[in-house]
This record gives sequence, C-alpha cells and structure tokens, in this order.
Amino acid sequence: MLFDSHTHLNFQAYDEDREEVIKRCLDFPMSLVNIGAAFATSLKAVELAKNNQNFYAALGLHPIHVFDEEFKITDYQKLITANSEKVVAMGESGLDYYHFNEVEEKYGVDFAKMQAKQREIFIKHIQLAKDNNLALVVHGRNDQESKLNVYQDIFNVLVEQKVERAVIHCFGGSLEEAKKFVDKGFYLGFTGIITFDKTGVLESIIKIMPRDKILIETDAPYLTPVPNRGKRNEPVYVEHVAVKIAEILEMSKEEVIELTGNNAKNLFNLK
Ligand SMILES: [Zn+2]
Repeated sequence: MLFDSHTHLNFQAYDEDREEVIKRCLDFPMSLVNIGAAFATSLKAVELAKNNQNFYAALGLHPIHVFDEEFKITDYQKLITANSEKVVAMGESGLDYYHFNEVEEKYGVDFAKMQAKQREIFIKHIQLAKDNNLALVVHGRNDQESKLNVYQDIFNVLVEQKVERAVIHCFGGSLEEAKKFVDKGFYLGFTGIITFDKTGVLESIIKIMPRDKILIETDAPYLTPVPNRGKRNEPVYVEHVAVKIAEILEMSKEEVIELTGNNAKNLFNLK
C-alpha cells in the first residue's frame, strides 16, 4: 500500500478542508503517519489516527520550537500509554541550524545555547522512543551558508545514544553522509524535492541506497512535488515521489509502492 511516512494533516493548513483531504487518502487507499511538531499537533495527530484507518501518529517537539514550549516527558508518556496502538514514533525531533536567526531574534539566545537546547530535547525524544519501543523520526537542516554540518552532529547523537530504529526525514545531506547513516542501519526519507532537484545529489543517493532503507514522504503541506508545484501538498501526492524513484531505479511504480510500504511497516513496527 502507498505509505506517506511523514505528513502533517494535523497542521492548520488543513483546518478548512481536512475531511476532504482525508477522504482522498482513504479512497486511494493509502497509509500515513501524521507527525507532531509541538504538543498540540501531537495530540491532533493521535486524534486523526484514532478516527481513520491506516493513519498513525508520531509525537514530538520540533527543534525550531524548543523555546516556544516546555517538552513535558510525562505528558508525552501519558499520550503514548493511552494510544499505544496508534503511536508509532517519537518525532519530529533533531537539530535545525537553518532557522537560528529567527530563534536569536525571538529569544535572544546565541547559537551554542540553541544547539544545546535542541540536543537536550532530542535526547529526551530518544529516551521516550527507547522506553516505549518506538521508532524515531529525525529532522535535520543546515544553516543557510552550510558552514556547519547538522548531519554530522545528528549522526554523533544517534551513535552516542545507541539509537537503532530511526529515519532521517527529508534527507538533505551529501552522498558521503547518506552512506554513513545507511551503514548504521538508519532509513532515509525522500520527499517531492526529488521531482525537481537539479543538483543530482538526491538521485545519486537513491542509487546507492540499500533498497530496504528507502522511505517516501510528502512532508505536506510543504514540498509539493512536480506536477503539483505551487499547490498545497497532500498525502496522495506521495505517489509522484514513488514514480520518480521508480524512474531512477528502473523499477515499476507498483514495485516502489510495495517496497517503500513494507519499509515503512518495518520501521514503524506495523503488521
Ligand atoms: Zn515535517
């Protein structure tokens, strides 16, 4: 089954027509994980999972929000315990250096302080994932000049913390970095960016990927693939990501859908 491994129907972008977007998913039919970025959107992800077949939830506080609210471990733990059938992962969590200027402006913190806080919250997610046998959904984004290496820093945390089951969603690192992650058994998530990426980097990564570590995702409402560029993204468009990967790997679309669906089930421990 088509599986969007990272999407945000829990976000405000769908407040006007969420039921219609959900209907298109159910009619397809497809499976998906709505990913939390704060406590409120984590709650919403759980609600959507409880009400819809083949919908699952990941709970987390996004690294760009670590100063916006406290990460209350006990609240997240209660949500997991009460919804263990539907909560499949912690995240998205990780490190984000791209939005440092905004964080600095809003909270007056320097880079080292932001980095330390993101790392502290990231490790709390890892602990909850381990305690509850959940997967980990990791977000990483480099600063605008790419002077820093967010993927190296993330890799170090995952290794230090002995994380075993994780996806680096919307992977945006180099071929060498991709190799390091997959050598450790981590999954990489590919978005609609592969349908319009002119650099060729993502294509070269997909070609060397162990097939059982490839995931597809929309990251909707963002990153709309060709041919829907300019519109709000939604889960059914993940089919275009499957089509592009099929072209790169010289497989059929159906084979890629089956492969990536099984990979998502393995990562998220679904039957
Ligand atoms: Zn996301």
